[in-house]
Amino acid sequence: MKINFFGAAQNVTGSKHLVEAGGLRILLDCGLHQGRRREAYELNKTMPFAAASIDAVILSHAHADHCGLLPMLVKQGYKQKIYATQATIDIARLIMLDSAKIQLEDFERLSRYDNPGNEPLPPLYSIEDVEETCQHFAALDYGVWQDLNDECRFKFYDAGHILGSAATVLEEKITQGTKRLLFTGDLGNTHVPILPEPAPIEEPIDAIISECTYGDRFHKSVDEANDFLIKLINDAVKYKTKIIMPAFALGRTQEVIYILHKLFDQKKIPAIPVAIDSPLGNSVTDVFKKYTDSFDEETAKDFPNHESPFMFKNMKQVTSVDDSRALERARGPIIIIASSGMCEGGRILHHLEDSVGDPSAVIVLTGYQAEYTLGRKLLEGVSPVRIYNKLHQVKARVVTLNEFSAHADQKGLKRYIEALKGLKQVFLVHGEERQAAIFKTALAADRPDLLITVPAPKQSWEV
Ligand SMILES: [Zn+2]
Repeated sequence: MKINFFGAAQNVTGSKHLVEAGGLRILLDCGLHQGRRREAYELNKTMPFAAASIDAVILSHAHADHCGLLPMLVKQGYKQKIYATQATIDIARLIMLDSAKIQLEDFERLSRYDNPGNEPLPPLYSIEDVEETCQHFAALDYGVWQDLNDECRFKFYDAGHILGSAATVLEEKITQGTKRLLFTGDLGNTHVPILPEPAPIEEPIDAIISECTYGDRFHKSVDEANDFLIKLINDAVKYKTKIIMPAFALGRTQEVIYILHKLFDQKKIPAIPVAIDSPLGNSVTDVFKKYTDSFDEETAKDFPNHESPFMFKNMKQVTSVDDSRALERARGPIIIIASSGMCEGGRILHHLEDSVGDPSAVIVLTGYQAEYTLGRKLLEGVSPVRIYNKLHQVKARVVTLNEFSAHADQKGLKRYIEALKGLKQVFLVHGEERQAAIFKTALAADRPDLLITVPAPKQSWEV
C-alpha cells in the first residue's frame, strides 16, 4: 500500500490523499485549498494527478476543504463512484453549489473594477458541473463493508465531527494477510452538542492518516464555554451590543443555534433577537432536521417532547438580500450569525464591513481560522483589514469561542490513536506545521513504538 499526500499536508485545507492498493488508485477526499487567493486558485486549478486515472473516491465529510474540489475532478474526466454517507451526500451537494455560486459572484463583482495585476479569477466550476458530480455519489452506511475489487474493501465509522462524517478503514488483502489503513477525515470533539462521539474502531490498524488541527491545544470544558457565552450575552443586553458571529454554515451554525436555544430555555440569557443570516446555513439546518435519528442522547434530554433544537421564538432565518442588508440598521442587543466561518466570503463580509470599526460591537469567532484568511487576521489583532477591496480599522472587540470546536483537541486525538490495536505508523495531516510538530512530540512521548510522520505536500510513503 502506498499513500501520496497531495493536500492538507502541513496545512489545513485541500484534503486529498491518493492511496494505491490492490491494483487500484483510491482518492481519499477531494477538498478545496483555501487561504491566499491566487496561490489557492493555482493549486485548485490543476489536479496533481490525471482525474481519469482514479478508480474510486471516498469522501469523509461535506466541509468544502474535503469535498469542494470534486466538481473539478469530474470536469477533468473522473468517471467512477464517489462513496459517502447519505447525510454527507445531501450536504455536499449544497456546499458545492454554494461554492460554484460564490466563485461566479466574486468573478462578476471583481470584473467590474479595473485592477491591473489583480485580475478576477474565473470560476473553477459551474452549477452544472456540481449537478454532474452528484450523479457519481454512492451512499454507504456506517459499519458496512464495501468491496472495491477482490483485494480491496472499506468501511465507514462515525467520526463525530459533523453530520454524516466518516472515518474510513481501508483494507487490502496481501499474501501475508491484510493491511489496514485508517483515515480519520476530521475527528470530532467530545461533549459538543448534537452528535455522538467518534465511534471506536474494531479492526487492528496498521497505519493511520490522522488530522491534527488542534494537536497543540486543550479545549476548555463546554461548561466554561457556556459561562463565557452567558456573560457575553448578558453584557450585550446591558450595553446594547451588536454581536457578529461568523460561523461555518455546516456544523457550527447548527451548534450555536442549539446552544443559544438551550440557554434561552434555561433562562440563563434573555431572549434577545437572533438572526441567522446564512441561506446555506439554513438549508443545511433543514438537512439536519431529516437526520434526528443520528443525534446523541443528550439532544433528547435537552429537548424533550421532540421539540426541534433548531428553532426558537426569538430566532429569525434571514433569506432575502434586502433583509440581510437591513440588519445593518438593527440596534443591539442582537446576535447576527452569518457565514463564511473564516470570513472569506458570503454575507458575513457586509456585517463586518458595517461593524468592524464600531467600538461597541463584538465579533465572536466560532471556529478554526486558517492562515491568511480575514478571520485569522481578526484573531491575530491585525488592523486595518481589507474588506471588499477597502481598508477598515478594527475597533470592535474580537473574541473567540473555540470550545464548541468540531475538532478533537490533543487529548481527544491521542485517546483515539492510542486505542487502536496493532498500530505501527502514523501520518499527521490537516494541521499547520507548528500544531503537527507539537502533536508529534506529545504522541511520541507516550508511544515511542510508533513511526510518526508529518508528510510534506506531494510526498509518498509505503505502509
Ligand atoms: Zn471538517
